Amino acid sequence: MENILVFHLPFLPNKNIFMNSNSPFVLLVIQATPFCNLDCKYCYLPDRLNKKIFDINLIPSIMDNLEKSDLLNKELNINWHAGEPTVLSPSFYENVINEFEKYNKTNIKIQHSFQTNATLINSEYCELIKKYDISIGVSIDGPKFINDENRLYRNGRSSFEKSMNGIELLKKNQIKFSLIAVLTEYSLNYPDEMFEFFNEINATSIGFNVEEKEGCHRNTSMDKGMTEKYKDFFQKFILKIQNSDIKLQQREYLNSLSSIIYQSDVYKNGLVKPLSTITIDIAGNYTVFSPELLTVDNGKYIFGNVKVDLFNDIFKNDEFNKVYSEILEGVEMCKKTCDYFNVCGGGSPSNKLHENGTFSSTETNYCIYNTKIPTEIVLNELEKHQ
Ligand code: SF4
Repeated sequence: MENILVFHLPFLPNKNIFMNSNSPFVLLVIQATPFCNLDCKYCYLPDRLNKKIFDINLIPSIMDNLEKSDLLNKELNINWHAGEPTVLSPSFYENVINEFEKYNKTNIKIQHSFQTNATLINSEYCELIKKYDISIGVSIDGPKFINDENRLYRNGRSSFEKSMNGIELLKKNQIKFSLIAVLTEYSLNYPDEMFEFFNEINATSIGFNVEEKEGCHRNTSMDKGMTEKYKDFFQKFILKIQNSDIKLQQREYLNSLSSIIYQSDVYKNGLVKPLSTITIDIAGNYTVFSPELLTVDNGKYIFGNVKVDLFNDIFKNDEFNKVYSEILEGVEMCKKTCDYFNVCGGGSPSNKLHENGTFSSTETNYCIYNTKIPTEIVLNELEKHQ
């Protein structure tokens, strides 16, 4: 498993879904299992050897809770994550998808997505993906020599060939997928090689998650001092895209561009809004704000369980209110001090907590790499074209 945030996810739902809705709810992240078959060096998940699986009997409670909390929009987006989803069999997902449909009383569209390392994708999985039109995001860090720096099995073996087998099967089955690569100091040396590799893979988009200090991963090669190197990498990568005929989209570049052009607060910033993202573990415990809060600090940020606590009732939960007011303080501080606030909306609570020790804070590495540098580059581009 790799570092991931909602804004790291490639599956931003269709804008129209929530433009016409009063509900703040955008995304349901569900942990199919905490287990991962890989042991990436930068993984933040503390419990990735735990092979327990999501309890399918929770589904009626989840749907009922969403309905009673008035959180259902025209579309329900469910991302299976926080562990490698494909370690479970396709029949597990066949069952959960059918169960969700069984309790889909208002007949809304339910869109499922997986974030996967692709090592276990086989033809059975491809059939499932096609049958239910599941959105796929693949995690791979670049060509073998870059990927193998960090993405390894527990015995130290490379995961590259297996991931590539999965990717080839997706391509053979004409399944579209996006990519996420975790960037480390090492990979910043190779913008051209990264571009060529991702270009050849023929994915729809590539998102960069910069290695984070988060959860049980306490150090990062991308700590302070890497900003110029990252800027150089990012600029070269974007230039490569612009000078080619390919359709590959770069997520952070496009996010910044659309924030600037649309000046809309539609996408701004779900991570600091309660109930915009709800993340549920295998036993039905849930958190809100950043999905990473589900697994860190021994459950400190779990605000309820779907069976007994209505999502809407978190506002009566003292621990939630304490966290929320700290997050709002942090957002307010950002608003007063940061020139990028209008494209950022106050950053990622989980990163503020892990980098600065408190939600009530401002700049993080995450916001520098994810927001500030891409925005600077977009603004420079726009200026050139004026
Ligand atoms: S870019 Fe960083 S400092 Fe600025 S608003 Fe976002 S989180 Fe706050």
